[in-house]
Amino acid sequence: MKIAVVGTGYVGLVTGTCFAEVGIDVTCIDVNVKKIEDLRQGILPIYEPGLEEMVLRNVSKERLQFSTDLATAIKGCDAAFIAVGTPPGEDGSADLKYVLGVAREIGQHMDGYLVVVTKSTVPVGTANKVKQAVTEELQKRQSALQFDVASNPEFLKEGAAIEDFLKPDRIVIGVESEKAEEVMQRLYKPFLLNGHPIIFMDVPSAEMTKYAANSMLATKISFMNDIANLCEIMGADVNMVRRGIGSDTRIGNKFIYPGIGYGGSCFPKDVKALIKTASENGYQMQILQAVESVNENQKEVLFSKVKKHFKGELAGKTFALWGLSFKPKTDDMREAPSLVIIEKLLAEGAKVKAYDPVAIKEAQHMLGEKENVSYAKDEYEALIDADALLIVTEWPEFRSPNFSVIGKLLKNKVIIDGRNIYDAKEMQTLGFCYYGIGVQEVQPLTEMTN
Ligand code: NAD
Repeated sequence: MKIAVVGTGYVGLVTGTCFAEVGIDVTCIDVNVKKIEDLRQGILPIYEPGLEEMVLRNVSKERLQFSTDLATAIKGCDAAFIAVGTPPGEDGSADLKYVLGVAREIGQHMDGYLVVVTKSTVPVGTANKVKQAVTEELQKRQSALQFDVASNPEFLKEGAAIEDFLKPDRIVIGVESEKAEEVMQRLYKPFLLNGHPIIFMDVPSAEMTKYAANSMLATKISFMNDIANLCEIMGADVNMVRRGIGSDTRIGNKFIYPGIGYGGSCFPKDVKALIKTASENGYQMQILQAVESVNENQKEVLFSKVKKHFKGELAGKTFALWGLSFKPKTDDMREAPSLVIIEKLLAEGAKVKAYDPVAIKEAQHMLGEKENVSYAKDEYEALIDADALLIVTEWPEFRSPNFSVIGKLLKNKVIIDGRNIYDAKEMQTLGFCYYGIGVQEVQPLTEMTN
């Protein structure tokens, strides 16, 4: 089989590479010339565990190609996946200009029956717009070529994208013809060996499924953050509460970890877009409005704790930040809570020394040159002469550091842990002043006994 994947970002590159991995002839297309030139030389635009080796392997086997030329790449394809960005417009709705632009290009250049698949996250009704755009272009060509549209939302998680794509929990596909269903079934058959299903449904339901999934996950996070904040006030420990509720199989123990708010390229924009879709159609998503507002507050919680500890006097102080990316195992900095924390610290006249295993380049790109932000070559260098350590992203390598070295390098033994990766009692015993999320702050034992 032969496919084109249009848009070679996180989703397009992973999708194209994984389809190539199972033997399908894939061309990944992008308008970004530099990205395509780099990929042709084996330079990847993103960090994703396992992706580089897989790209190189499939390029060398000539199953995976990169191109800026959609007109040529689309010829003879069984399916074209649209995987371009759908950023939020000013009003929060998903901006479909890239998706529909690609649809038009496909209509201009396709040369036989094709399934046009939206893989980008798009609101209900978008497949119809795609269909219309392709049809209009075919009419301009006075072409009677047939095509179908399908909606195939992507559920991969950055940081585990390859695993998620190769062994998906489920594949959701919205189709409107048996022919399209048959093409999609053939394409995805190699990924179903783990026994998880393809769920075929109508197109609007598939489009809605993606937003409902991300909104449910964002809701779990905001709910748990709300509970965590209340735990702090009431003298409870959210780590205990989490275990207590997670053991109920109706609730489950995944995705109920409190922290400093969700970020990334998907949850914030998808929650916004669903709220907007609802309001455009005369309905109010009250839960999601609350989810958003809890999240905005939560991004400031770490900063508030810093401010509280230092009694509002942050000017001239230096803070070591461990972690910059919005979550571990990715260099994605889009909507990362670290950006909010850094801006707030700088606004108070503080300095930031940050370390992240892979996201420093991306952070430099997003933050630009900033006099009071420096980047360390490892986590310990970031601590030298810092007034406190702030845990922002829970990279595995931060979980079990050498606390005696941390204590020696920091000016004050203060850890403000936005991801609850350390144990408050242990920190107290080690002589640290420790703040977590939804747990009671502790002062070092030594100070208490003095
Ligand atoms: P991205 O910004 O990383 O990549 C989009 C790519 O599309 C860019 O390289 C851009 O140059 C390219 N592009 C734009 N217009 C184009 C055109 N006309 N022709 C060819 N290429 C074009 O975006 P992403 O993170 O991969 O997300 C893509 C879509 O998938 C979004 O709708 C997103 O919501 C959804 N999604 C993302 C994730 C994720 O974890 N990143 C997961 C599931 C779904």
